[in-house]
Amino acid sequence: MTFDHVLRSFLLTEIVKGFLLTLKYMFFVPRVTINYPNEKGYISPRFRGEHALRRYPNGEERCIACKMCEAICPAMAITIEAEQMDDGSRRTTRYDIDLTKCIYCGLCQEACPVDAIVEGPNFEYATETREELLYNKAKLLENGDRWEAQIAANLVADAPYR
Ligand code: SF4
Ligand code: SF4
Repeated sequence: MTFDHVLRSFLLTEIVKGFLLTLKYMFFVPRVTINYPNEKGYISPRFRGEHALRRYPNGEERCIACKMCEAICPAMAITIEAEQMDDGSRRTTRYDIDLTKCIYCGLCQEACPVDAIVEGPNFEYATETREELLYNKAKLLENGDRWEAQIAANLVADAPYR
């Protein structure tokens, strides 16, 4: 043992330094932790969260049943059935996403020509059963109605980079 080592052991300088560091972080350094779920962290406009199907402001469904999203999905998580409506438009009669298969790649959103299917900002949708992660059209449209304001703002924020 060197003299310096003995002196430091005797004066407990390491412990004093440790306490000073603790005091510094208690009173002088801004906290990096947040009080989740009461406080939420920043989420990028490109965040790929829970899926949603959007409508136009007049309530009309955006989806035109082109099936591009179904074709591009690498996990084959999307299932679509479509029919021609009385007004001549083509609409989905079934739009299912199996979120237990989904890898959140975002390709469905990229492929959609009318920004109908999107991955929204919601990340708080943990479930207790697998069945709850089998989303149908009604659930996806409900998500779209619920998150439309934030989804639209995120698409505008991301538009210059697409
Ligand atoms: S995010 Fe990717 S894996 Fe998930 S449904 Fe869309 S295309 Fe399929
Ligand atoms: S969500 Fe978009 S890509 Fe998928 S079928 Fe509808 S319009 Fe086509």
